[in-house]
Amino acid sequence: MVKSANAGRKVIITVTCDWDGLDYPLNGQHNPAGNPHFRFDRGMQAIAHFNKMFDHRIPITHFICPVYFTRSQALAEYYAREISQRIKNSCCEIGLHLHGWISLVQACGITPRDAVQDHALPDWGAQENSRLGLSVPYQNDHGDEKIDYGHGVPLGVYSQDEICQLVERGRALLIKNKIIKSSGDCVSFRCGGWMANDAVLAAIQMVDPPFQYDASAVDASFFATGSGDLNRWLAQLWGSQRQIGNSYLANSLFLSAYPNGIHIRDNGNDVSAAQPQKIQKLLELPDTAILADYVTADYMKEQIDRTVAIASQQSSDLYVSLGFHLESGGDPRFGKRFGHIERVIEALEYANQQYAATGKIQYLTITAAGRGFLQNSQRVHTPTESSSRHR
Ligand SMILES: [Zn+2]
Repeated sequence: MVKSANAGRKVIITVTCDWDGLDYPLNGQHNPAGNPHFRFDRGMQAIAHFNKMFDHRIPITHFICPVYFTRSQALAEYYAREISQRIKNSCCEIGLHLHGWISLVQACGITPRDAVQDHALPDWGAQENSRLGLSVPYQNDHGDEKIDYGHGVPLGVYSQDEICQLVERGRALLIKNKIIKSSGDCVSFRCGGWMANDAVLAAIQMVDPPFQYDASAVDASFFATGSGDLNRWLAQLWGSQRQIGNSYLANSLFLSAYPNGIHIRDNGNDVSAAQPQKIQKLLELPDTAILADYVTADYMKEQIDRTVAIASQQSSDLYVSLGFHLESGGDPRFGKRFGHIERVIEALEYANQQYAATGKIQYLTITAAGRGFLQNSQRVHTPTESSSRHR
């Protein structure tokens, strides 16, 4: 009996999907019928395929940016209907994801910071496309042709009060469009571009009800081949150096929980120093294997293997996270049939073959994983607390 109690712990795997609102038109050989929602629709099909492949046994945490509901009424209705149908009867979780889209910031009652107008504004995509970065053309409710942009503006350029309002109204948009029933159904957060500075981490704890889980912390070295700005900023934000107090890179709250920063790739894919930690009232769950745009299936498999090996020596569970973006997840330019989701599926099929029968892995949503972590850490601390109380 004693031996089995000491025989190591489980690896908890969270699978996340980031919905960035990047339903830009993709025409040509992949989309001969010219479906204007090709990338969105393919992402939805990719998720349906995922759920069928794993028989709904692997829950996905969907971090949804409410920009789907702020471009026009017609678009809002289209997306809301499709999303509701897809998540109905599934074991998934809905979390909030915020990018600095102009239409979204306006809809939340805040004056948008605009990289086209303000060349000093930080924007990791703005060096391309006449400073628009990744952008989405659309028609508004008056029939005017518009372009939505601002995807690459870090949320931390807004003040803490403004971020509170963006978070509150953003979550309200998910309720209005019937993606969730009430704000208490959405308590997990991931910042757009993983750019959660002090103001963001503070703001999400201040809204009512407060967010309980954040999944924005990353190892920046995964992004070394990506956009120069984003890579540099993430290295500062989630590294071990304290950044200037008031900037979009301010990271004091993070450093109070992770004084050495987050290092996984350079640490031989070892996630043991990137485990959940309390940041004030929030539980941070680092995005250990980030999203499939930036890592291969082999890298995800190796992380799972290493974590299972380490967990066998541990007295508490270990946590890993992997995932994909909705619109590149199903984009056939990035895969054989769907898109980046294929890498995630390959890694999870491997994990199932290797470990499902052993009981060494468990798949949970971010909220279920976070709740389990908190319950386990409470159990570990309880005997000491109760014995001191009786003294
Ligand atoms: Zn995003």
